[in-house]
Amino acid sequence: MTTTTITTVRVFDGTAMLEGSFDVTFTEQGISAVTPSTEERGESGTIIDGTGKTLLPGLIDAHVHFDSYADLGEFTRWGLTTVLDMGTHPKSLVDSIRNQRGLTDVRSSGSPASGPGSNQTTKGGFALSTVVTGPDDASRFVADRVAEESDYIKIIIEDPASVGDVALSVDTIAAIVQAAHAVGLQTVAHASSTAAFQLGIDAGVGILTHVPLNGPVTSEMTASMAAGSIRSIPTLTMMKGTASAVGLPDSGDGPGYQNASASVAAMRAAGVMIAAGTDANRAPFVPFSPVLGESMHDELQLLVDVGLSPTEALRSATSTAAALFGLEDRGSVREGSRADLLLVIGDPTADIAATRNIDQVWAAGIPAS
Ligand SMILES: [Zn+2]
Repeated sequence: MTTTTITTVRVFDGTAMLEGSFDVTFTEQGISAVTPSTEERGESGTIIDGTGKTLLPGLIDAHVHFDSYADLGEFTRWGLTTVLDMGTHPKSLVDSIRNQRGLTDVRSSGSPASGPGSNQTTKGGFALSTVVTGPDDASRFVADRVAEESDYIKIIIEDPASVGDVALSVDTIAAIVQAAHAVGLQTVAHASSTAAFQLGIDAGVGILTHVPLNGPVTSEMTASMAAGSIRSIPTLTMMKGTASAVGLPDSGDGPGYQNASASVAAMRAAGVMIAAGTDANRAPFVPFSPVLGESMHDELQLLVDVGLSPTEALRSATSTAAALFGLEDRGSVREGSRADLLLVIGDPTADIAATRNIDQVWAAGIPAS
């Protein structure tokens, strides 16, 4: 097995940029050493000069969708070594993209829970059995996902004022969350309006994904999120693209992207944990489709634009995303971690755009081609 050492490199360890420069040694089995740079290193294996470069954990996109197996390589070459699928079908496609040597590692929600007549079942091709008819149907839905080997549970929360009976009720959402907790699964709720956000908070979901365009998330809502350990995957790339696609402004008092950016700033200020996700997709029926892979670099920039420091933005795409989904073997550069690594030219803690200057990517120790 090849041993690789990157020498004299700056290290962002998933939490902060470490002081000084380091030699980082790894194999396919993981990172074996992170030590201050020395002239007296062994000469065995592959040596890569990291001078002027920064080594980061491979990035995690906490909200993507797949269209085909070919999508996987797009994520890898843009430095994403883990992506969290938030709804792809059929299951055979999800199975075909799992555990692919030298490529991005995939986790999946399988099919999302939605209400009767939802877009997911009428346009998105998800099975009618993914409709949850009421609180009594929640355990059945979660059992189906466990049988499908889902890694977490996705729930589509809609605004009852806009879609009527298509929207899952707060009692149904809460019952799905309870059933998921009973089998140890995280819950991620699609909530792209203020009403949906409130329903998700009231139902006690684990993570709210998207952030509303129709109005700001209030201080009462952010306080409830912080108190209830409800986390956020805001998908600013998707919200900005959607606002633009449907002709909404990015300033003023009405609906628009300014609500999304203000809400992320408010969640950050309230201490809500934020993980980076793009909603990268190729779905034909959505207003906007972030580009698979590359859009994570847009997301990091947008998170900085709304007030996260570059270091906080990098945490959101590494250690925070890993923590929210129990992926303890990754999201960090330290001895024993999975050798999911991203080597970039420059210092992304000084200028977040440096994450685009990709020198090399390793997925579980294997260089991406
Ligand atoms: Zn999505």
